[in-house]
Amino acid sequence: MNPIQKRIDEMNERIAGIREAGLYFYLQPLEEMEGAWVVTNGRRMLNFASYSYLGLLGHPKIGAAAKEALERYGTGTHGVRILAGTLPLHNELEQTIARFKGTDDAIVYSSGYVTNLATVSALVGRNDVVICDKFNHASIVDGCLLSQAKFVRFRHNDMDGLERRLQQADPDVGRLVVVDAVFSMDGDIINLPEVSRLCREYDAMLMVDEAHSVGVLGETGHGIEEHFGLHGAIDLHMGTLSKTIPSVGGYVAGKQDVITYLKHVARAFVFSAALPPAQAAAAKASFEVIEEETERVKLLQRNVELFLGGLKERGFDTLDSETPIVPIICGEDERAYQMAKRCQEEDIFVLPVVSPAVPAGLARLRANVTAAHTEEDIAFALDVFERAGREVGVLK
Ligand SMILES: *Cc1c(COP(=O)(O)O)cnc(C)c1O
Repeated sequence: MNPIQKRIDEMNERIAGIREAGLYFYLQPLEEMEGAWVVTNGRRMLNFASYSYLGLLGHPKIGAAAKEALERYGTGTHGVRILAGTLPLHNELEQTIARFKGTDDAIVYSSGYVTNLATVSALVGRNDVVICDKFNHASIVDGCLLSQAKFVRFRHNDMDGLERRLQQADPDVGRLVVVDAVFSMDGDIINLPEVSRLCREYDAMLMVDEAHSVGVLGETGHGIEEHFGLHGAIDLHMGTLSKTIPSVGGYVAGKQDVITYLKHVARAFVFSAALPPAQAAAAKASFEVIEEETERVKLLQRNVELFLGGLKERGFDTLDSETPIVPIICGEDERAYQMAKRCQEEDIFVLPVVSPAVPAGLARLRANVTAAHTEEDIAFALDVFERAGREVGVLK
């Protein structure tokens, strides 16, 4: 048998087994969304699986901006940005992002995944070295592999490890360090002051993935530099337009020269179509709403405290999370599936994350709290988690 077919069969068998056990939670269609509540399979459930950290999905100003763009320009652009695909909206969106991030300029791509793939592979090549935290997002890993640069990693958030990697790098080749600002499985924050200092000392360029940082970190939600009070620490701010920002797409913000370089070299920008007008308009309006409605960030930060504090009080292991991404450690994969099942039966929409996405033995529920949750929502959820935790044996 062709080994490709074997691979396909094995994965299908694994999925069928999980389905038969009634423990398959993926690809569930959400029929309705309203604030923190969703309807799935006809059941109304409290959503702890959303990345809409500031609850901006459905915001009237953002919807109106998208509708206006749709009416004016239609549903697509028919072209790549560099040839005939650029609308005034795309340039305005890039200017808005640059202003929001405090940089000269920005480049927008058609997804966050593609942004990492295209940016890393445009910056480094065969003779260079790219240095990553072990827990970086898959899209960064894929960008490193595509680039064909020497790909080295250091232990998660281990600054001595990073320094050793920098010392080992040939000073005559290109050196790029890429880290997540907030790690998407653990919810902890990179030690930016130290990463930035080391990058300066060893003359490495620093790119930080702020997918879970914009709208989340910093007193006004401007991201990890604001969180640490370190403006200018990062050379390239990568972000997505699909999490806090309720649209689709990704971006890099930075100095003028590097953005101009990317707009002419990054293959997913040069050879792939521009964002649809409605999505570009929605993204632009979203950054404006974050700055206008500052109470949303405060509400999110209050909810993080309530939720994380409540889980810890009840004895759950939440690793080092200090953000809206909260891992509720269950142990073996099976226990995480059981825990998700129990929570869903009690109307909490939360999903398990198992190996190989996370290390074996650290299977978990990945619960995201957002600004859309009320205090009552959080209290209700904490009770459900506690009951389920005792039944399944996650809590003693
Ligand atoms: C979600 C995510 C991405 C990819 O963004 P998309 O816009 O969904 O493609 C990249 N990096 C991190 C850390 C993410 O969590």
